[in-house]
Parts: sequence; structure tokens; C-alpha cells
Amino acid sequence: MPSDSEDENEVCDAVTPPAGAAQFPALKTIWEDQYCQQCQVGNDKGWECLRCGRQFKPVHHTRAVAHYAKIPNQGIKVCTSDIPHHEFQRYVNLWNHSKRRKTELTMVKMTITEDKEDKLSSSTEKLMESRNKKPKMSTELRRYYETIGMSKSSLPSGQTPIDTAFDILKQTDLARMNDARMDMAIATFFHENNLPDRAVNSSSFKIMIKYARMVGSSYNTPARQEIGGTLLDVNYKNVVENNKEVLCREADIFGLTWLSDGATIARMPLINILGLCADTPPTCVAIEDCTGHMTQGGKKDAVYIASLLEEVILPYDPDRTRTTIFWFDGAGNVQKAGRILEVMFPRAYSLHGGEHVISLFFSDIAKLPQIKVCLCFCFFVFDSILTIFSFRCLF
Ligand SMILES: [Zn+2]
Repeated sequence: MPSDSEDENEVCDAVTPPAGAAQFPALKTIWEDQYCQQCQVGNDKGWECLRCGRQFKPVHHTRAVAHYAKIPNQGIKVCTSDIPHHEFQRYVNLWNHSKRRKTELTMVKMTITEDKEDKLSSSTEKLMESRNKKPKMSTELRRYYETIGMSKSSLPSGQTPIDTAFDILKQTDLARMNDARMDMAIATFFHENNLPDRAVNSSSFKIMIKYARMVGSSYNTPARQEIGGTLLDVNYKNVVENNKEVLCREADIFGLTWLSDGATIARMPLINILGLCADTPPTCVAIEDCTGHMTQGGKKDAVYIASLLEEVILPYDPDRTRTTIFWFDGAGNVQKAGRILEVMFPRAYSLHGGEHVISLFFSDIAKLPQIKVCLCFCFFVFDSILTIFSFRCLF
């Protein structure tokens, strides 16, 4: 029976399964194990060890395996329960397999990086050629050596100006080469990740390059999980606070207007809420997921929508004096919700969203047979002109 002691590191080298292990299939992931249960820990996803009863977050496979295999110093407490030897061996085998796989992946990543560096060198040379910026140093130096007929090291003293000229040429070549390499690295990143070309004009991209010049070689880029986790949370909170500040700047004078509509996207029932003020364009304030409410048997009815909007609006209008208008489409539930909100916010009144009504009006017109025929004819003519034009361009 392994224990929580100093020599636990040795355990991971013992990969020979004991006699009793044959009856258990090898674990492919730790989540297959019946003692490892994914669950909600606070507001985050996590998992629970059903052997020792501890809960952990976030869901991290390697750390979970380290917990059961009792591998210390892996950023997680080791399991304190007594695990039968043949079951414990399965955890150790899984740990060994994970580590081996991780080493293989690291090797593959290193090979890919080296290949890309090679490609970047060759593409940089091609770019230099296409820009007619071949290195000056080699040509000039060759001519100099040919004229003098000796090596630079054997030059007599008093040749400082010539040495300086060579140093300047060398520096110029290096700067041009670095510029070309940076251009190709940026272009390759854009092309490989299928980013739109116009993203290079983004002010965020320019800011990123500005700060890339300032960091030292010790800087490490954030991990994938950080980009989509903690950093995303920070950005989200920051944007919400900024939006609130901008939206409420003139709200005491001009009042606040709210727009809202429901939509089911990928089987997720959502309600969006946008706010606008006199000098502020419509700003997304919230996209509420109603899945929890509906799974409990609730409906997107007037009372629910009104309470949802009240909850979202109150931080922007705590005295209920700023809100002036609610815009909703023609659906019965949101119109009723508007009437409830008129009571909740005494200075406000609810109206039909004009653009929604106009869009429905034109949608109905487009369904008339005469209009439909005209539309088909127009599409046919336009398509034919495009085809003829393409052929003319080809020949
Ligand atoms: Zn445990």
C-alpha cells in the first residue's frame, strides 16, 4: 500500500502490473475512473475525489492523475485514502502514459518549430530578393578584399574609417534582414490562422507590436487556457465597467433607453438587452441565458422577462428615474413585459421597435407571387451578367 511519504516519486517507475490488475482494463483518462467525479465547485467546473472526498477546481487531467497516483509537487494534494494496490497501479500506469505522451508532444512541437524557422529563413531571403535589398556587405567586402589583397585582420593600423564603414554596412544588412523576417513572421501567422488581412490595421495589433518591442527574452506568452479563462474574464469586466460609465455619463439629462429581444441560438434560449443614451450608440449590456429557468419548467413569459430586465437595469438606474423608453418587437410576451416595466419604472413607456415592424412588412411583400417573379428575374439577369463578365476577364 503506497503512503503519502517522501519516496512516492519512485512509485511512477514501477510499471509492472500486479497479479490482480489483469481484471481491470487500463485507464485511458482519469475521468473514466468511478472514483473521479466531475462536478460544480462553487461557480466553476471542478471534480471530486470519491476516495478522500476532496473537491478540486479547475478540471485538470494531469493534476487529477497526480492526485490518485500520489505524485507530490504537481500543484495538487495527493490522495490520503488507502487505495488497493492493483487499483493504485492503474493510476500509476496512467501517470506514466500521460508523461510519455507529453514528452512525445513536446518533441513534435520542437520539430514543428524548427521546420517553421527554416521556412521563415528561406521566405525572408525571397522577400529580400523581391525588394531588391540584397545584402551589401558581402559584395562590398569582396571588392575590398580583392582590391587590397589581404584579410581585414591583417590590415595595418590607421584603417579605422574603413572598419567603421564596414560596421555600418553590417548593421544596415542586419536591420533589413530583421525587418524582412518580422514581416514574413507576421504574414505567416495571419495566413496559417486564417485571420483576415485587414486585422493588420487593427489598433490592438499595433499596440501589441509596440509592447512586444519592450518585453525581454524572459517573457512567455499566455497559455491557451489563460486567453480563454482569466484574461477573458478581466477583459469582460473591464469592457462592462467602461460601457456602464459611458452609458451613464449623460443619463441624468437625456435618460436611458433599453432594447431587448429573445432568440434561441443552437438550442440555447437567450435574451439580449441593449442600452442607449443621447450621445451613445446602442451598447450590449447583457445576454442572459434562460436555460436554467426553462429547465425548471419556466417560460419566457412577461413576468420573467420583466424581472430579468429589472435586475439588469437597476445597477444603471438605481432610483428608477433615468429610464425613459423600452423598445420591444411585436411579440405578445415582450409587449406585456413592457407594460409591467412601465409600472416598475414610472417615468418610462414601452414602444414597438420600428425597424422590426418595417423588416416584417418587407418580408411579407417579398412573399407576394408578382414580387417573387420579379426578384427571380433580377437575380437571373444579375447572375448572367456576372458570368459573362468573368468569361471576358478569363480570355
Ligand atoms: Zn483523493
